[in-house]
Amino acid sequence: GPGDADDDIGRRTHAAAHFVFVPLMAQGHLIPAVDTALLLATHGAVCTIAGTRATAARVRPTVDSARQSGLTVWLVEFPLDYAEAGLPEGVDNVDNVPVEHMRSYLDAVALLRSPIESYLRAHAPYPTCVVSDFCHPWTTVLASNLGVPRLSFFSMCAFCLLCQHNVERFNAYEGVADDNEPVVVPGLEKTFLVTRAQAPGCFFRGSPAWEEFADYTERAQAEADGVIMNTFEEMEPEYVAGYAAAKKMKIWTVGPVSLYHQLGDGATLAARGNATAIDADECLRWLDGKEPDSVVYVSFGSIARADAKQAMELGLGLEASGHPFVWVLRNAHEYDEAVRSFLDELEARVAGRGLLIRGWAPQVLILSHVAVGGFVTHCGWNSTLEAVAAGLPVVTWPHFSDQFLNQKMAVEVLDIGVSVGVTEPLMYRKEVKEIGVGRGVVEEAVRSVMGGGVEAEERRRRARALAAKARAAVQEGGSSHGNLLDLASRFRAAS
Ligand code: UDP
Repeated sequence: GPGDADDDIGRRTHAAAHFVFVPLMAQGHLIPAVDTALLLATHGAVCTIAGTRATAARVRPTVDSARQSGLTVWLVEFPLDYAEAGLPEGVDNVDNVPVEHMRSYLDAVALLRSPIESYLRAHAPYPTCVVSDFCHPWTTVLASNLGVPRLSFFSMCAFCLLCQHNVERFNAYEGVADDNEPVVVPGLEKTFLVTRAQAPGCFFRGSPAWEEFADYTERAQAEADGVIMNTFEEMEPEYVAGYAAAKKMKIWTVGPVSLYHQLGDGATLAARGNATAIDADECLRWLDGKEPDSVVYVSFGSIARADAKQAMELGLGLEASGHPFVWVLRNAHEYDEAVRSFLDELEARVAGRGLLIRGWAPQVLILSHVAVGGFVTHCGWNSTLEAVAAGLPVVTWPHFSDQFLNQKMAVEVLDIGVSVGVTEPLMYRKEVKEIGVGRGVVEEAVRSVMGGGVEAEERRRRARALAAKARAAVQEGGSSHGNLLDLASRFRAAS
């Protein structure tokens, strides 16, 4: 059964809404789900977050500190049944699931339905709403067994979701033989070109097992009682409205949820999503020594990684750009001796100007520092929105999944980004090409975002204006703030 349940659950107020969060246990889904739970709790809701062991470990410091500050948020651990699911022992968060086990991992998580349900029945107060990741279709059964509504949680933007919906709904790729041939996204006012390789649709359908999962997920999605999305109305009003209309569904936009942490202390923010590979204070001291807007932050998120050749090109490009940089290499330990000594030598050459973080970085803490002036990103939606919230222009370098559409959002919709020009997703590569993005391209893209000049200034001005809108959205009277209040009151327990 579940471990680690807290004892004084009786303190929860009975009239409050009680949201049960079932996040997908990958940082890009987990982190915004936890932030959303904390935000709902600041509006008086009770939240229970269900997670596997490794998942709970990654977010426990954040949840504990929120509870110490008076919020009613509970993190409950549920062990996976490895034998039943045919899954290797200990594999329990997407960041430690080998890709060939991904499908059975999702089945293993689905087996948590019954333990989660029993736990919720045994611990008052009774839940009033399930908020589950769109990748957990089985939570429709959990919600209906409990007799409560279910909201689907998306850590994606409405623009991306609407594009994906429209290419499927209007069969945009029908008769298009080449996966790399650009087609226009149907049903939108502006013209956006995508390829099937970049934007295949809502779900990966690479095998019968995934096909079945995609269909189940779509059915579950259609049955949801609404959608919670980490974005904000003012950034993409036509796409939020368009997606709500297309799906005939109520949408609560609640982002940028990373701004929850603007009220907290640095230590709590640094712990967001994982234990960091660098001391947060050391990192801040390093940034304190730099001019405002001078540092470029480089990270590919929690899943994407640069292979050996690509890492070296990227490093040489950053060095050649002449700009100070913080470069996060989450998979540094996987590189062979040659790459490791390349990195050590680079680090020595750029000492004082370049900071390498080998492992997890306190990303939002870094992005919020005045010295940081740009972000080379893989365009994961959280990273993209965190850049927006920090008022930073971006260099866009998508790798896979929704990242190509997020790049379009940054470059073509918001006009705050410069693309490095990747056209094909990495997972479609039959073999790794000599060099994906050359050092010269990296250098040029960094210079154009970080350098002076009219275009760069205007891009930065647009990014700052957007950040002001983002902050307004989460403040009293703002759209996201209002949506959170609405959720907390609409799903209150009947008393
Ligand atoms: N993140 C972080 N430190 C890291 C890498 C990632 O704090 O070293 C956080 C980042 O701030 C974001 C999330 O992890 O909130 C990654 O989500 P995103 O959607 O950007 O990318 P994904 O990891 O899903 O590809």
